[in-house]
Amino acid sequence: MSEKRYTLIGAGIMSATLGVLLKELDPEAHITIYERLDEVGAESSDAWNNAGTGHSAFCELNYTPQREDGSVDISKALKISQSFEVSKQMWAYLQKTGKVKTDSPFINDIDHMSFVWGKENISFLKKRYEAMTKYGMFEDMEYTEDFDVIADWVPLMMKGRDSSEEIAATRMMIGTDVNFGSITKAMIKYLRTCDNVKVFLGHEVEDITRKDEGWQVDVKDLNEDVEKTGEADFVFVGAGGGALILLEKSDIPEGRGYGGFPVSGQFLICNNPEVVVQHEAKVYGKAAHGSPPMSVPHLDTRMLNGVRSLLFGPYAAFSTKFLKNGSFMDLPLSLEVHNIWPMLSAGIQNIDLTKYLIEQVFQSPEDRFEALQKYYPNAKMEDWELITAGQRVQIIKKDKEEGGVLKFGTEIVSSEDNTIAALLGASPGASTSVSIMLDVLKRCFPERLASDDWQKKLKEMIPSFGQSLIDNRELCLQTRDYTTGVLKLEES
Ligand SMILES: Cc1cc2nc3c(=O)[nH]c(=O)nc-3n(C[C@H](O)[C@H](O)[C@H](O)COP(=O)(O)OP(=O)(O)OC[C@H]3O[C@@H](n4cnc5c(N)ncnc54)[C@H](O)[C@@H]3O)c2cc1C
Repeated sequence: MSEKRYTLIGAGIMSATLGVLLKELDPEAHITIYERLDEVGAESSDAWNNAGTGHSAFCELNYTPQREDGSVDISKALKISQSFEVSKQMWAYLQKTGKVKTDSPFINDIDHMSFVWGKENISFLKKRYEAMTKYGMFEDMEYTEDFDVIADWVPLMMKGRDSSEEIAATRMMIGTDVNFGSITKAMIKYLRTCDNVKVFLGHEVEDITRKDEGWQVDVKDLNEDVEKTGEADFVFVGAGGGALILLEKSDIPEGRGYGGFPVSGQFLICNNPEVVVQHEAKVYGKAAHGSPPMSVPHLDTRMLNGVRSLLFGPYAAFSTKFLKNGSFMDLPLSLEVHNIWPMLSAGIQNIDLTKYLIEQVFQSPEDRFEALQKYYPNAKMEDWELITAGQRVQIIKKDKEEGGVLKFGTEIVSSEDNTIAALLGASPGASTSVSIMLDVLKRCFPERLASDDWQKKLKEMIPSFGQSLIDNRELCLQTRDYTTGVLKLEES
């Protein structure tokens, strides 16, 4: 019988997912979750702080870069799509077993479309479509260059547009919009009903120190202004933007050489209900030259707590905070001898990005509106309002040749003895949370993961666990049918 003590820092979707996986696999485990805010899932995982796209690579053109020879590389898209199917399977298990309950559906089906204009982009989209539809995962993708067909799919985007304009679009009707905040809250609510799980809100982890056995976690109860100490055999730093600072505090050698560059997201939200009902899709375009991958513009139907809304963005903004509810000192305080050079060299090598961010920061409301009009020509400025979403901290990593490189993905950093793991970066994010947390288990608990007990339980939760959905068309379609049914995606 195991009585391992796990401490999870942060109550976002990553810690919530890891907590549930651990509790299902190791029912005797003692799990402690510390969250600095008074609410669960209120930073990046909150519905209004992210775009809510169930990233399945159906529409995100940045997941399928064009190679120098003109062909399209879909390897990243296949991986992300598979990861999202894995997330849906775990959510279906939690829903089916009644372990997570939400008042309104946390996942809704919504068409995912890519929309481009200009010869070069049309040729890219067609090649992308041809490469992707060879796989079961994407075989339902539709492609058209016909103005009227696109007008049928997304009328709002075609009204007021010159019908002689060269355009093309793809559509996947099984895309989704996800309220990641809602599923996070539901998972933590479930954990609170389990034996030996404690969730402390308003508790900020201030330090993590290695002990002879395990770790000491120093925490401040922010409401009572009291310092506390906890002990753990394993620590997961799931603190989102706050993870880098905590990783530095743990002082593990593997954490040296990492820096973070914060970019916050803003969206225009439509407050005219007559416009909102005219659009029903997530339509992703092509990112501007030099822009970071997460800045791909999209006109997005959102379904939040049963209410439909329409968003356009994201626009990038700069802040030195690592968390939306963080401190302006986060970036300066994260600078240490080990990461100054990687940060400087990454800055020098990414002049395009720096230029892009400066342009974004100084754009006027009219500039933002102009970007919207490329997708919705008849938009009226008075219908739209600018809102600030969450904060992403892009990873900067020490590199032998380049000095430092800017990374747009996520990275798990763990100690040599695998008793502590931190998640850095934020993309593709919440959609792939289950696969990322399975990677944490694989890295930190390899023997237990290989045991018959854990393998059996994982297959119950995730029917495709251990098998590829990329190469196995039948399994992909079968598990997709299963999750569509349980999550009621055809009815939403
Ligand atoms: C603008 C934007 C758009 C996005 N769009 C999408 C999308 O469409 N689809 C998608 O899949 N993903 C998207 N993402 C990414 C996604 O939101 C994140 O990957 C995901 O929410 C990260 O979850 P997390 O649990 O790691 O972090 P968070 O949700 O940020 O949770 C971390 C928690 O740790 C807490 N914390 C921090 N420091 C401490 C401390 N010292 N002590 C205690 N608690 C602490 C924080 O308060 C927070 O609650 C987007 C992100 C942004 C910013």
